[in-house]
Amino acid sequence: MIVCAHVNPDGDTLGSMLGMYHILTGAGKQVERACNNTTPPQFEFLPGHEGVGPNLAEREWDLIICHDASDIKRFGSVYEDHKDLFERVPSICIDHHVTNSGWATCNVIDTTAAATAEMVYYFARDLGFPIGVEAATCLLTGIFTDSGSFQFQAVSPRTLRAAADLVEIGAPLPRIAHETWRKKTFASVRIWGAAFSDLKLSDDGRYCWSTVTQEMLRDNAASFNELEGAVSHMSGIDGPRIVALFKEAGRDEIDVSFRSMDDTDCTVVATKFGGGGHKKAAGCTVRKPLSYAVTDVLAEVAKLVGSAEAVAV
Ligand code: AMP
Ligand code: MN
Ligand code: MN
Repeated sequence: MIVCAHVNPDGDTLGSMLGMYHILTGAGKQVERACNNTTPPQFEFLPGHEGVGPNLAEREWDLIICHDASDIKRFGSVYEDHKDLFERVPSICIDHHVTNSGWATCNVIDTTAAATAEMVYYFARDLGFPIGVEAATCLLTGIFTDSGSFQFQAVSPRTLRAAADLVEIGAPLPRIAHETWRKKTFASVRIWGAAFSDLKLSDDGRYCWSTVTQEMLRDNAASFNELEGAVSHMSGIDGPRIVALFKEAGRDEIDVSFRSMDDTDCTVVATKFGGGGHKKAAGCTVRKPLSYAVTDVLAEVAKLVGSAEAVAV
């Protein structure tokens, strides 16, 4: 079996994928951990992270289980380099995004779940798979990170019960909170500061945005991954309805993160540019130079929040 996490992996895709990995290997299965990227440093405390990467062994795989991805393209090179495998081998997609297209052979989608890891926990529990401390640590990391440390609207009694069960099994909540939320590199605080300093507000105050260029990353000796989390802090800004953070991942490759402060639906804009996500947190990748991406995306943001016209940048 192959378990997959999406590109530029976050705590939920890695936590749910590695949780599933421990559960299945515990049941005697041979399991490969596939991801376009290797594990980002802040998740290196996760048991089993060291086997995560883009290379797949040549063998007759019988099942692909995909975690936290609304679209098959979210697997990046794992899909692009093995399209034949994805066509030949049955796939299960476990996900909680409203924008999920139902692309797998079997789609297990619960848009009320706070995290894909919450779904994996109940899946394993209900089918009677033993869940050890390693799986519990990975699954609680997925729930903790994707629920905004248990702060988001999607957190339900069901989410908290899953978390409580996982803590009971032995998942170290204080360590998970420290590793994924409190602990920061020097460079990440600097690049967050640069992103915060660049923040701009539309004339009517309805939306705000910031940009991070490759040059800013270089100047602050920061890696792209160290931007993770910055936009969530911007979503605390009182006043505007939506914030967009434009991150230059490479030449003509702009990753955009959206967060809404009220009930504005971020997926409306994200899906216009081929992305997806949730109502209050969505993203897309725009393959254009930064200034064009900003102009085009902000025009749609302005429309969404009813601004008279897009602000020239
Ligand atoms: P982020 O802003 O990267 O934290 O992502 C917020 C949400 O949007 C997450 O649930 C992501 O899975 C989703 N998302 C981000 N980027 C994309 C993309 N390029 N395509 C589809 N969904 C995305
Ligand atoms: Mn994710
Ligand atoms: Mn998720």
